[in-house]
Amino acid sequence: MQVLGIESSCDESGVALFDTERGLLAEALYSQIPIHQVYGGVVPELASRDHVRRLPGLIRQVLHEAGVERPDAVAATAGPGLIGALLVGATLARTLAFGWGVPVIGVHHLEGHLLAPMLEPEPPAFPFVALLVSGGHTMLVQVDGIGRYRILGESVDDAAGEAFDKTAKLLGLGYPGGPAIAALAEQGNPAAYALPRPMLDRPGLDFSFSGLKTAVLHQVKRWEGQGSAVQIADLAASFQAAVIDTLYGKCRRALEQTGLQRLVVAGGVGANRRLRERLRDLPATVYYPRPSFCTDNGAMIALAGALRLQAGESSSPDFPVRARWPLEHLEVPA
Ligand code: ATP
Ligand code: MG
Ligand code: FE
Repeated sequence: MQVLGIESSCDESGVALFDTERGLLAEALYSQIPIHQVYGGVVPELASRDHVRRLPGLIRQVLHEAGVERPDAVAATAGPGLIGALLVGATLARTLAFGWGVPVIGVHHLEGHLLAPMLEPEPPAFPFVALLVSGGHTMLVQVDGIGRYRILGESVDDAAGEAFDKTAKLLGLGYPGGPAIAALAEQGNPAAYALPRPMLDRPGLDFSFSGLKTAVLHQVKRWEGQGSAVQIADLAASFQAAVIDTLYGKCRRALEQTGLQRLVVAGGVGANRRLRERLRDLPATVYYPRPSFCTDNGAMIALAGALRLQAGESSSPDFPVRARWPLEHLEVPA
């Protein structure tokens, strides 16, 4: 089965063609980062409009590269995300599927992230623990199968990626903040500032990152706008180390609690090199998507759609798009 996947939940237009026999045949991505950079964050209306501009060309390109004229099905992100942006991808998917006379299904964006490591040569087997660390979400999930997700813990405030983005802003670095902080942290001393390891001392698997961001803010205020390049790099490195320590500690606990020995790391923060190094110390096999599939992409949506259709889920041409959509409300394909 060949499935065309379309991702448009936020600021990335992603398209891919996944073949259940041959794997990923083609994929294309257009990142809107330059459009939103000047505003320091994503502007929803600009995002929707740019998806309209970019997606048709990306779809044409992917079909051409894959040598496919008419896929067997179309999958699009149905939520959670920016409602206008989601509507663009969903409408395109429905229209193409109608014209081709093929099934169409709506995919949960986070299910896409969770299953993304299955695009790699050595995919994880179910069940596994997943650490989902993206721009909007931070959670530990027990994944028993497609649609069978149990949330073990999640952030009570900011997501890890959001903490990177907000901290980068405080330090006067660019958007998105994750890659900017990661790069600068390489020149800094991670032990220079004693920042909190939020909730690591408490039982349970929830996270909290807003206190860490506040600690950075207090330090920046102490400099009264005069932080030196070395101080800023040290603070970036110290912040990154605090996030990594926290993620590491909670992953370790989740593995102990579930007795599982496979950990999947998904979402944009999973691209962080130092985090990957640290997680090697865990008593588990750790699976990642390639760095470009940690952030938003069409391949994970094509894959999730293909797996659901293969598992017997039927086409839903009138699938709703949803700004909010709890992962635990997902259905297990019949
Ligand atoms: P969600 O999937 O929750 O809706 P999203 O799609 O915006 O959110 P992703 O695209 O998965 O999130 O990831 C983007 C986030 O990842 C941003 O917050 C960005 O700063 C962060 N990020 C990207 N690369 C890195 C890195 N190397 N280190 C740390 N954070 C990173
Ligand atoms: Mg993005
Ligand atoms: Fe995402």
